[in-house]
Amino acid sequence: MKRFVILFLCLFLTASSPWQAASPSSPAVVTVLPPAQTATPVPAYTNTPIPATEIIPPTITPAPAPKIERVIILSFDGMRTDAIAAAPMNNLLELMNSSAYNLTTAITIAYPSTLPSHAAMLSGLCTAKNGIFYNRYFKYMGYSQGVDIFDLAHAAGMRTVMIVGKDKLRELAEPETTDVFEIRHDEATVGAAAVEQIAQGFGLMFVHFPSADQVGHKYDWMGGSYLLMLRNGDEALGKIVAALDESGLRESTMIIVTADHGGHDGNHDGTKIEDFRIPWIVSGPEIVPGEITARIHIMDTAATVAYGLGFPQQDDWDGIPVYEAFGLPRLEIHPESVQWPCHEWN
Ligand SMILES: [Zn+2]
Repeated sequence: MKRFVILFLCLFLTASSPWQAASPSSPAVVTVLPPAQTATPVPAYTNTPIPATEIIPPTITPAPAPKIERVIILSFDGMRTDAIAAAPMNNLLELMNSSAYNLTTAITIAYPSTLPSHAAMLSGLCTAKNGIFYNRYFKYMGYSQGVDIFDLAHAAGMRTVMIVGKDKLRELAEPETTDVFEIRHDEATVGAAAVEQIAQGFGLMFVHFPSADQVGHKYDWMGGSYLLMLRNGDEALGKIVAALDESGLRESTMIIVTADHGGHDGNHDGTKIEDFRIPWIVSGPEIVPGEITARIHIMDTAATVAYGLGFPQQDDWDGIPVYEAFGLPRLEIHPESVQWPCHEWN
């Protein structure tokens, strides 16, 4: 009986012990809660402007603007300003879209003739100072006097080139300052020679197209033959500009298109404004396109070339830079009373 009671007690304790739940051998009752929301809280929107100081500016360095590194002067002998549209010279007209130009008040010297006019153009000096008061090739008379732009360019170490259609233009600059001097006799061969020189590189080049003047003397200015010669020259100009483009030189080259004089009635004897008026057109880096209103004298070409290339202006020069072409204020120091420059040889 005693053994039965003990067994009964054991069974009772096993089945109903109040400590059963705490027994380590019994499974724990676990309440599984849903996982906590762990998404990153979205910051509340505010329309507070970001302080300017927190904006980091882009660090792109702008490419420096191209500078004038070389100059080419294209002179069409005897080209009147009204012939450009009449011809028409389509390549020049296209170039003018990006050029500063004067087709109304630019004039040559009082003795409007090929050699004296070109001497004033490249020397910056009136005839009395450069000494070229004759329109023929007088070898014994030597060369244009004074400091001309070929002197300055050559002294600066530039390769200097002169391609002309008339042999008397040899007197424009000394052989010592012209690394290349070539004579060709029509627009196509002058242009081809210029293109060859562009391929070799240059600092200063003067290119002279002879035929419009020659035909003008024979058949008159503004006639069909005269205009045809200008179209031929315009075709050469197109090839020269294309050569500058293809060689990558265009954007750093100043191009000046001008003339030595105009003409009328088979001559340019200085009896009409059409003999004196010349086109003056410049394009290239630093040039501000548009019409120039300032009076331009042919001697200003040398001064403008020097200004563009950073050469010093010469104290005795009669020409001044055409500052208006660079977007600078007009400077008019030519005496208004002097209608025709360099009148001492008139
Ligand atoms: Zn001429």
